[in-house]
Amino acid sequence: MNDAATANKPTKLNRPLKPNEAVQLYFDRAADQLELPSEIRRRLIMARRELTVQVPVEMDDGRMETLVGYRVQHNNARGPMKGGLRYHWDVDLDEVRALASLMTWKTAVVNIPYGGAKGGICVDPRKLSRKELERITRKFIDQIHIAIGPDVDIPAPDMGTNAETMSWIRNQWEKYHGFNPACITGKPVEDYGAKGREEATGRGCGILAFKLLKRLGHRPADCRIAIQGFGNVGSHAAKFMHESEFPILAVSDISGGYYNSNGLNIPEMLSYLLKHGSLEGYSEADKISNEELLALDVEMLVPSAVGNVIHEENMRSIKARFIIEGANNPLHPVADDYLYQNGVVILPDILANAGGVTVSYFEWVQNRQYYSWDLNRVRQQLEYILSTAFDEVWQMSLERNVSLRTAAFMIAIKRVNRATELGGS
Ligand code: GLU
Repeated sequence: MNDAATANKPTKLNRPLKPNEAVQLYFDRAADQLELPSEIRRRLIMARRELTVQVPVEMDDGRMETLVGYRVQHNNARGPMKGGLRYHWDVDLDEVRALASLMTWKTAVVNIPYGGAKGGICVDPRKLSRKELERITRKFIDQIHIAIGPDVDIPAPDMGTNAETMSWIRNQWEKYHGFNPACITGKPVEDYGAKGREEATGRGCGILAFKLLKRLGHRPADCRIAIQGFGNVGSHAAKFMHESEFPILAVSDISGGYYNSNGLNIPEMLSYLLKHGSLEGYSEADKISNEELLALDVEMLVPSAVGNVIHEENMRSIKARFIIEGANNPLHPVADDYLYQNGVVILPDILANAGGVTVSYFEWVQNRQYYSWDLNRVRQQLEYILSTAFDEVWQMSLERNVSLRTAAFMIAIKRVNRATELGGS
């Protein structure tokens, strides 16, 4: 695949890009292909509403801390806005803006009836007790409850938050608005959550990796993989890929990278993770750095941790031929161009990690119907939605001679634009 000239003007940037600038760049590239006029672009790219709130909280030792929380509601042309809530020390308005916009394109590319939003609190959750996290979450919801809800904007887990956080949110929101579990997704299964939600993002990466290889005529057994990140996305991707007979040579987490040239014992590593909370001290593999993991001689890389891990400084060391973006924004646009031009096939985040929000949608549907699906139904529907989206993106990339990222953005922008036209002004 070679991009048409306008779709892949090389990106010359000698400074780090802010996350929202990167998303804007991908958006513009696709909008150029669609010949979208500037007044429409502005309407589609600008967020509808951005909330910045103060989150005052009492710590366990009696100190008062004042944190900053955000909820950016990017677009609701196709339905209620949808997107996770991130607790991380890098969270700021620009990052939340970028991620909210990615959610709009993500829900559109997999064609589920939502818009996009994202929230976050700038905090290091590892330094907080469970009680402090609960108080912070409840205070944050006190500030934004008025702007969220099952028909308006439905939060979900993201980095630093989990099913338990979602239960606190549901409980706090319902204090104001009454019983309605569809106000939040990613809840524990015993608290109106969906079976298969927790595994969904990682499983989705695996399903799509499988589809991609099949299209290109390769077998999983010949595709050696390195996965960066062993959190919710990376660990479930590893589990699914291992079961599908992909050799997984390396994984990493906060404690570093773990490598075995004959393939890692993933079930053993998953039990280790469950028991110890991280891979720290796991001794059945060689220890490598995160940078070494990215540069390994493997066929496929699955960056599933933070953003911007492959950039101008390390892009030349990448040997993988396929990249599945489990994380949001893991590639700097310069690296994205460079790798694409060197024939690397990159499955973009807005498709690659859309499994999570897809099963969030199933959870919301089940909550609204007071009915519960079994795991098989969830998995089958997930596969159906992701496979359909993959085929559409693949087709578009062939027809227009553009990258999979540009193709995915084109499909998404077309859908959001059409909904906007139908809704009128
Ligand atoms: N935080 C996830 C994402 O970035 C899931 C969002 C959701 O389920 O609404 O896609």
